[in-house]
Amino acid sequence: MVDAALISLCLQVLLTMTDIPRDHPRYQSLVTREMLVKGVRDGITSMQGLIAHGRGEAFDYLLGEKTTAPALGAEKAAVAMLLLARNPVVSVNGNAAALAAPEMVALAKEVNAGVEVNLFHRTEERVGKIAGLLRSNGCEPLGVHPDRLIPGLSHDRAKASSEGIFTADVVLVPLEDGDRCEALVKMGKKVIVVDLNPLSRSARTATVTIVDNIVRALPNMVKLAEEMKSLPRPELEKIAGGFSNETALSAALDAMMETVQSSKQH
Ligand code: ATP
Ligand code: MG
Repeated sequence: MVDAALISLCLQVLLTMTDIPRDHPRYQSLVTREMLVKGVRDGITSMQGLIAHGRGEAFDYLLGEKTTAPALGAEKAAVAMLLLARNPVVSVNGNAAALAAPEMVALAKEVNAGVEVNLFHRTEERVGKIAGLLRSNGCEPLGVHPDRLIPGLSHDRAKASSEGIFTADVVLVPLEDGDRCEALVKMGKKVIVVDLNPLSRSARTATVTIVDNIVRALPNMVKLAEEMKSLPRPELEKIAGGFSNETALSAALDAMMETVQSSKQH
């Protein structure tokens, strides 16, 4: 029988040997995969998170792996909503932690939001590791000892903290599961999701859906927050109020269909 520790050691050696050439046409996409694999090895990301990422990658391919103009518009509306909020919260799961922990903390600081750990595949060990990662990025996260349950949800994903997601008026939940997004909307919250799949239930239920990869969306949002935080409230209200999720999703589908059409012509 092959020793599990030996397999793990071999895997680690192989991974450290992986040297992605910088001139590879899909360099960023490959680096992102490595970040997630590291997330799994560090006990931050679940194995299921790798599969969820694969689904996202397929849609990103159709988008041309870039932030489209409508996605940037959604990012702007989302930042305006966060800046206008009374109690905004940024929710962090295993994929978001592996791919964008520093940016999530930076965004929370810019918009004065809480940061809450919230996991679908919750184990206390993973919560502790993600909380540690967030602390090393300079914030004290909520959700380590959740004391409330989101109504209408079974399962550990219902857990929330009373100062954080439970009482928040605006929640940014990147890569959210459809049911939880719906339950948060039903509680009267404005829900912002980052989801490359414009057809997902999350995308269709959210108040603002950003159809962009989290590795591009979060740095964009940090920059936008720096620029927009000095804007007067009426200006922010205009930006947030002018957003239509239906129009944004339809624009994302148009962008994907354009990629398919132009590939057929070649
Ligand atoms: P539904 O919303 O229909 O319930 P789901 O919650 O079952 O879908 P999951 O399998 O949980 O979907 O995956 C979460 C979503 O996150 C997927 O729709 C996928 O497109 C998206 N996703 C995965 N990786 C990224 C990423 N890096 N950036 C943005 N979105 C991503
Ligand atoms: Mg979803």
